[in-house]
Amino acid sequence: MNYPKEVEPHMTEYARKSSCVKEGWFSHIVQTYNKLVKAYPDIEIDLLKEKFGVLRFYIGNYPADENLRNHVVNIISEGEYGSSKICDVCGESGTTLVIGTHLLATRCSKHSNER
Ligand SMILES: [Zn+2]
Repeated sequence: MNYPKEVEPHMTEYARKSSCVKEGWFSHIVQTYNKLVKAYPDIEIDLLKEKFGVLRFYIGNYPADENLRNHVVNIISEGEYGSSKICDVCGESGTTLVIGTHLLATRCSKHSNER
């Protein structure tokens, strides 16, 4: 499994077994994670993955308080949107593009053909 070790304290067992993202997104994930933990110290990340070229953060326990929940959802949305501008191979700026016939990935020009 592949994810930044910094996020492990707030990952569920399932997340540790199943999360899979490329290294180019690691520092972006850690930044988003730090914002999430600051806003909501009880947060449990249930999965980190890439879908349609964009990062997905799955949370196991959204807060009951509506304001806090909206705040957490906003941080996650920003984090997911932010990943669509970062190459997941190297961390440089990238765009979400089609690789080959159907694979979507967010890549810089240097990694635009890598699978
Ligand atoms: Zn790249």
